Amino acid sequence: MDCLKATSMIRRFISDDLKRREYKEFVRHIQSCKECYDETEVLLLVEKADTAFFADQVQSYDFSDLLKKKIESFEKETFRRRILSGVILTGVLLITILLVAILIFYLNR
Ligand SMILES: [Zn+2]
Repeated sequence: MDCLKATSMIRRFISDDLKRREYKEFVRHIQSCKECYDETEVLLLVEKADTAFFADQVQSYDFSDLLKKKIESFEKETFRRRILSGVILTGVLLITILLVAILIFYLNR
């Protein structure tokens, strides 16, 4: 992904409006590109400050490492999904083996 494409995706990244694959590509880009990272961080900060201001929570809101936390929570979610799909795949595989075993058992009687 180039900077032009990344920059065009910042708004959607902030509002969690990217598809998972786009999200992953975007995060990979900003992790290797300081300019886009900084731009994303500033826009994210402005967005959060705005929300907090209207909710009257400016004092209690933690504005440090906003982008880092957002990326971390995305990675945690990705990890969780990977584990879950692994569990589901194992389950499907076990059921298939069981069905095949039952089939073989009845065919051999
Ligand atoms: Zn860039």
